[in-house]
Amino acid sequence: SALRRAVLQKDFVLHYQPQVDLETGEILAVEALVRWRTEDSGMVMPGDFIPLAEETGLIGEIGEWVLREGCRQMKEWLDRGLRPRRIAINLSARQFADKSFLDTVMRVLQDTGLDPRQLELEITESQVMRQTEGMILLLNRLSEMGVHLAIDDFGTGYSSLSYLKRLPIQKLKIDQSFIRDITVDPNDTAIVVAIINMAHSLELDTIAEGVETAGQLALLRSKGCRIGQGFFFSAPMSAEGVYPLLKQDNLYARAG
Ligand code: C2E
Ligand code: MG
Ligand code: MG
Repeated sequence: SALRRAVLQKDFVLHYQPQVDLETGEILAVEALVRWRTEDSGMVMPGDFIPLAEETGLIGEIGEWVLREGCRQMKEWLDRGLRPRRIAINLSARQFADKSFLDTVMRVLQDTGLDPRQLELEITESQVMRQTEGMILLLNRLSEMGVHLAIDDFGTGYSSLSYLKRLPIQKLKIDQSFIRDITVDPNDTAIVVAIINMAHSLELDTIAEGVETAGQLALLRSKGCRIGQGFFFSAPMSAEGVYPLLKQDNLYARAG
């Protein structure tokens, strides 16, 4: 019931984390990550309430709020002359299953004035594996509108890799569990290299999640991973917090 109240009162806030071109340092996109603002427990992280929101069906309303607020914020940044190319929004399977989801996306884009090409939707690999014909149709419609699609937490689901060529996706986000020990565990290095090479031959971009150290960054670059996201560049921050980074536009410029 506390979560239900939070939905009514819109007690949520989005934090934003840059996705960085590993070659040039340019901020290519920003991922929106939701937090629940409570009086007694401070910020509650999504892992601690998204599953509940999914169970209770509240995810529909929360997800729509996230989409709308993320698109609104992105449009505001663009209007202020900042240049991230895309805002990435995480989706739950339940949102996809909802017949009105496509209409919701179109309405939000119209209301906020954001170009569909500046929106990227992230679906986790395990959700993709439960795909239905309806979901494929939906993804195709979104893709035709110009919306980008990324597979989140790639490598953790039970993949039938055949879906990769059937779905209109542009990006694979390599799960952070493979990045964590990439410089010390040869198995992780091998897995990441395999994912990068497979993605490239399917003409998909790869993003490494959870990049925390210069060593991980150097290794990923040398293996041809194009994009990275993680504490090494920036933790997720409030819109005001991330503003100076977006203004700077290039995260290598600072380091010189
Ligand atoms: P995700 O989409 O895979 O997001 C990446 C998570 O890794 C985020 O956790 C982020 O804060 C964290 N992270 C980023 N860089 C680093 C790093 O360098 N090291 C480590 N250890 N962690 C890093 P967060 O914000 O707690 O979000 C967790 C998950 O909750 C997200 O995973 C996503 O699946 C879900 N989520 C977040 N926002 C939403 C939303 O609006 N809707 C839905 N349906 N799910 C969301
Ligand atoms: Mg994500
Ligand atoms: Mg992820």
